Amino acid sequence: MQINDNFEKLPESYLFSEVARRLNAFKEGNPQADVIRMDIGDVTLPLAHCVRCAMHSAVDEMGSSETFHGYGPEQGYGFLREAIARTDYAERGINIAPDEIFISDGAKSDLGNLGDIYSEQSIIAVADPGYPVYVDTAVMSGRGGELHDGKWSRILYLQGDADNGFIPAIPEAHADVVILCSPSNPTGAVFDRESLQKWVEYARREKALIIFDSAYEAFVTNSDLPRSIYEIPGAEEVAIEIRSFSKTAGFTGMRCGYTVVPKGVAGYDAQGNKVSLRKLWLRRQCTKFNGASYIIQRGAEALYSPEGREWIKQTVGYYLENARIIREALIGAGYQVFGGIDSPYIWFRSPEGGDSWQLFETLLREKHISSTPGVGFGESGQGYLRLTGFNSRENTIRAMQRFS
Ligand code: PLP
Repeated sequence: MQINDNFEKLPESYLFSEVARRLNAFKEGNPQADVIRMDIGDVTLPLAHCVRCAMHSAVDEMGSSETFHGYGPEQGYGFLREAIARTDYAERGINIAPDEIFISDGAKSDLGNLGDIYSEQSIIAVADPGYPVYVDTAVMSGRGGELHDGKWSRILYLQGDADNGFIPAIPEAHADVVILCSPSNPTGAVFDRESLQKWVEYARREKALIIFDSAYEAFVTNSDLPRSIYEIPGAEEVAIEIRSFSKTAGFTGMRCGYTVVPKGVAGYDAQGNKVSLRKLWLRRQCTKFNGASYIIQRGAEALYSPEGREWIKQTVGYYLENARIIREALIGAGYQVFGGIDSPYIWFRSPEGGDSWQLFETLLREKHISSTPGVGFGESGQGYLRLTGFNSRENTIRAMQRFS
């Protein structure tokens, strides 16, 4: 058996293991140091009471043959898809039908799995810096080309920098699939309507597909900023939207999210005929996915109850307040800071410059704070660090006092 040698082309993903290695080395040399970890983007707040109750009842249902659930619908249970369509879309004036929603075991799986429905020759455009999963999954499926100086030859990099506020400009080159993330991990940048409208126009012109990763949409509190790409006219014909309950409701360990594939979104076959992507995605899911767990879907449904909605509001508010504390402390200390307003991530660099790993070491040595080096998110992240608001308030305050 010959392996998929695209895996051999991928360099070891060493970002978080290298962070851990350096952190351990520092701790060994400085056992008294009280290091505060602000590198990993994992949540700290627990599940809502209503979510736990819903899951307890679901577990009890599984204990009796009258109410037991075996395989569920591949697309997800109607009760959850209806709650999503009603609350996340209809209430905000967006027309998405429950049968255009696909429940997943999290956003990450679908970000990779969607590659099944577009051609191996597709040119993928990704923001640089960006969430590494976009590039790595493209490479695994043979869409990367060759790696030269940290860039893959067949990937179209959309450069983000301090000048464009990490909102990439429309490229002259053609892409078949454009992956946009708003609010962005790692930069915290959020697309406004005008810039998103330009991407929708680009996709229509180029007959491209936009994959809109809005895993952090609940962190957008500014009502002028779009939380869904379907707030932009025409997006329902060119965009797939991916969402997650992970960061908004403490679901990182539960595994549940959803993907919206409107009926109007189409790709083209080799003869140039339009083909519904929803149809292909449904076919893909029915073949390769047996649905998310019934118990977890009942837990997710409870997030749409008044208590669940209030819990999300409180949870998101808590992390946003952490982000605000970090942002203000860093600005006060003279750093150039991005994000941290409608996003849990704070992206910053030192006025003296320096590469990301040097800055990482300095922060660790001088402040005993562990961060994520920006270069791990792409070449354009060089010189930056990322901190996260996913922490306890106490740790956030203690860490930021070290800058005063
Ligand atoms: N998309 C982005 C931008 C993320 O930062 C993450 C997780 O960190 C994910 C998707 C994955 O989310 P999930 O836990 O739903 O797989």
